[in-house]
Amino acid sequence: MRVSKPALIKALRPAHRASLFSSASLVCDPFPLVDCAPDASSSEVTERALREALKIADYLCETVHYVKSVPFSVGNSVTVNGVVSTTLLPPTLYDGVPGIGLFIAYCYKVTGHEHFLDYARRAHKLVRNLARSRDYLASCGAFSGYTGLIYVDLHLSKLLGSMPIIRDPTVKSRIQALLDQADLTFDVISGSAGVLIVLARWLLMERDTSVRRLARTAASALAKLRERDIWDRLVDRGRMLGGIAHGTAGVAWALAEWLQIEDSAEHRELLDIAFRHQISFERTFGKWIDARDGKLNSFWCHGAAGIGLAADRISKLLTVENSKAVVESTIEAVLDERNCESHCLCHGTLGNADLLLQAGRIEAARELARTVLDAATREGAWRFGLGSARISYGLMCGLAGIGFGLLRIAIPTQIPSVLTLDGPVG
Ligand SMILES: [Zn+2]
Repeated sequence: MRVSKPALIKALRPAHRASLFSSASLVCDPFPLVDCAPDASSSEVTERALREALKIADYLCETVHYVKSVPFSVGNSVTVNGVVSTTLLPPTLYDGVPGIGLFIAYCYKVTGHEHFLDYARRAHKLVRNLARSRDYLASCGAFSGYTGLIYVDLHLSKLLGSMPIIRDPTVKSRIQALLDQADLTFDVISGSAGVLIVLARWLLMERDTSVRRLARTAASALAKLRERDIWDRLVDRGRMLGGIAHGTAGVAWALAEWLQIEDSAEHRELLDIAFRHQISFERTFGKWIDARDGKLNSFWCHGAAGIGLAADRISKLLTVENSKAVVESTIEAVLDERNCESHCLCHGTLGNADLLLQAGRIEAARELARTVLDAATREGAWRFGLGSARISYGLMCGLAGIGFGLLRIAIPTQIPSVLTLDGPVG
């Protein structure tokens, strides 16, 4: 249907007006600050974490805008050019409403509060509309790509009681088309490794031959890395990357998940090659190099916490040489770092705490959470992943992820890890 320009302008007017208000609020609104004094015991840390997580969720619900019942938010995020700017949040798990909706839906699971349910339902509707559309996401990966929507839908369908959209043939053909792209990337964030993990999550819940075929296509795409004998789509400024988000730890992890679905000597060999490549970034025990700048790095996206989470998953699924030693070395790196510049999940302290949680070091994870809560109390603000002054609402760099991390610290058995793309719990 063609829409005339005046009609389009009229239809968009509420969104533009709300955007202006929202942009202004980024400058002058107070946002949820920690108002409780530092405590001594770990049970008090979990109580504080839960309280602050729910306060963040309340704030996100209060500040969201709706256009024809569809939620949207304005905030700082990284644009396709890599520039941080104030904009409508993108339709992604990484820093858009789908990721915020995932956090709010788990707050509903924990509290049963109606306003969380209302937000979660509307976010779910948006996720489904986006998944059926051809127009929004050009990449396929699990955080900034199309299968991030499928991942959110797996959770929201379970929490809200509906059929997962992955059963829809339109969705399957959309995944196939994205995997067939000539400029397909291979990483977890935006490429075929992310697709493989999300589809493996679904296949562990339900046997589905057409989804299995798609997963095989994603695994075969990773095998092309070997054919070229160069990790040419995992490079940054001429350097081959390690790490979970864009590098070989993420590729090895994806293959380990796939090998639970389908055994393959070729993919097992590729996993070993990718994991050995990742290990080459360890300088000494507890010291992991970020190939982008050659500096030591402890956080999830390009550093020790993500490498450790990948190695932890791999070691629990398969016998892979040195995988357990890598987990111990990366835990050492995280404990040594203690307090990152940011509190966020992607490259901050709460992302690092997830490695400790998953490795069973619960008290150490709570200690990291305590440093976050104490710093926020002292400084009167959370530290976001785009620079502390750049208020961010999204899951990986912003407020929703800080809330999600705190919620997981409070009740880890009920809240799955988004950093290892865990499936729905229970
Ligand atoms: Zn990051």
